[in-house]
Amino acid sequence: MTRLLFLGPPGAGKGTQAKVLADRCEIPHISTGDILREAKAKGTPLGQEAQGYMERGELVPDRLILDLIRDRLQQVDAQKGWILDGFPRNPSQASFLDQLLQEIGQRYDGVVNLEVPDEVVVSRMLARGRSDDNEETIRHRLEVYRQQTAPLIDFYSDRNSLIGIDGDRPVEEITESLQQLIQPS
Ligand code: ADP
Repeated sequence: MTRLLFLGPPGAGKGTQAKVLADRCEIPHISTGDILREAKAKGTPLGQEAQGYMERGELVPDRLILDLIRDRLQQVDAQKGWILDGFPRNPSQASFLDQLLQEIGQRYDGVVNLEVPDEVVVSRMLARGRSDDNEETIRHRLEVYRQQTAPLIDFYSDRNSLIGIDGDRPVEEITESLQQLIQPS
């Protein structure tokens, strides 16, 4: 059973790595960013409400995210493990998750922190060209990351749950390090 949280700045490659690892473990890759982008593309009420925040590089309000996570972790496919990517993203989401996991009788095995320097994430995001990836929004997302998400590094490291992974390496090498984590050879 693998249950992991993925932390790291925007553009660190969380999505890429989380997806590969989830496929290999045959467990769902739960990305709040993907869920919100899909809602936006479909024009659902969630998507419409989230759109402005995402375009400005702000976090969407917690109330849009929490119920969604509660429902998702209780679906059948999530009973054999999961990788959470992009959640939690601030201390209140982290406390919510602790409480939720306790309530539903689950726990996480560890928190992967993908470490990548600022210059690298900015150039990666400019290269990928997503609609919220212009230089100004990118800088703002990094600022939001530093203020709201980076404190979670201490939060999880205080619980001895943090696993630092150097994300400034070729994709396959990082995948290899992650694979070792779940299946030490
Ligand atoms: P990245 O990590 O590259 O910034 P994501 O796909 O994880 O991209 O997120 C894109 C956007 O979706 C964020 O900038 C934010 O607006 C919103 N978002 C995603 N996850 C959350 C979350 N847990 N809480 C609030 N907003 C979120």
